[in-house]
Amino acid sequence: MNKETMLTIKSKYFNKLKGGYPLLFKEAIVNLNDLKEEGTLLKLVDEQKRFIGKGYYGKQNKGYGWILTRKEQEKIDYAFFENQIKKAIEHRKSFFNDHETNAFRFFNGEGDGIGGFTIDYFDGYLLLNWYSEGIYQFKQPIVEALQSSIEYKGIYEKKRFDQKGQYIEDDDFLAGERAQFPLIVKENGVHFAVYLNDGAMVGVFLDQRGVRKSIRDHHAEGKTVLNTFSYTGAFSVFAALGGAVKTTSVDLANRSLNKTIEQFSLNGLDYEAHDIRVMDVFNYFKYAVRNNLKFDMVILDPPSFARSKKHRFSVAKDYKDLIKEAIAITENGGMIVASTNFAGFDMKKFKSFVEKAFKEMNGTYKLIEDHSLPADFKTIREFPEGDYLKVLFIKKIKG
Ligand code: SAH
Repeated sequence: MNKETMLTIKSKYFNKLKGGYPLLFKEAIVNLNDLKEEGTLLKLVDEQKRFIGKGYYGKQNKGYGWILTRKEQEKIDYAFFENQIKKAIEHRKSFFNDHETNAFRFFNGEGDGIGGFTIDYFDGYLLLNWYSEGIYQFKQPIVEALQSSIEYKGIYEKKRFDQKGQYIEDDDFLAGERAQFPLIVKENGVHFAVYLNDGAMVGVFLDQRGVRKSIRDHHAEGKTVLNTFSYTGAFSVFAALGGAVKTTSVDLANRSLNKTIEQFSLNGLDYEAHDIRVMDVFNYFKYAVRNNLKFDMVILDPPSFARSKKHRFSVAKDYKDLIKEAIAITENGGMIVASTNFAGFDMKKFKSFVEKAFKEMNGTYKLIEDHSLPADFKTIREFPEGDYLKVLFIKKIKG
């Protein structure tokens, strides 16, 4: 197994880390220079040599690794990984038995006891996401534990730990049999075409399952829908299946056109009855205002950071203005669905952006629904940052 290093933690962080906070952050570490090779096992003690826990060194965003256990006797070995994976499977029992949905997250990093990697399940195919070089050093015991715990058709992996924390281009196939792509999976009876070996993104973001269902089941009937940052058009497809009279999907990426046509067609929808536009969302807003276009529903799901030719967008700075753009083209009585996966602010702050945006537009609104991560994206109370998804259904009264 991997090497072990003793890591000293500033005593003022003893309670926080002993109390369940799983991420090893830089300010807490006294002997940073002793961290050499990622994947090194760590025994954490504070400045008074009080035992805190055991974990590993792996650089990910702002973190330097994750605490895996607070039991001094527990070993970080094959049995440990197997145990955590078995518990994760147990927690997803209802998903494994669901006939309408066969795509879900079945291991969610620190939420399931091991920070640094996730596993998604796509109709028998498993997709591992490794978020640091450090956790990747445990690939062998983790994959073996996985193979002994679950029946699967094939395993794919994504290494998301180049110098900027980005995806490393590779053949992502790992074990079992290769899938035929597109792999067609189901979510609440709706089909998605998924590609597990074609870059960082596979075609669907599983964490939005509850939002898609709510749009289809409660909010789409008879409505015109604008879906911005639409990617493969997942929200549009659910809205159309829920009876939307027309959807308009807008995304800058060339791939989005074919991918959106594919998702519509897969579900027996006539894509020609809908609008799919490859263009900058910010230009589309201008176009809509110029042409007096208004929608019954406007969906906002931007990436946390985006750069186009003319625009630099960051949700932390610019979300309020994005909502204002949406207010301007939403009918009175219509709905804005505002979403973000940015972990840097919480729901309270997100709601304050909505408040400010309507205020600046002299408008009024009512919050109708809010969503956070679904149950398969298991999170822990001690790590609220892990519960990153925030979605608000905002009814525009006027503005
Ligand atoms: N809402 C999607 C996921 C969005 S992912 C879903 O539910 O599946 C973010 C998308 O935003 C990407 O497809 C990216 O191409 C697109 N994007 C980023 N900046 C953009 C911009 N300025 N205009 C339009 N699309 C943009």
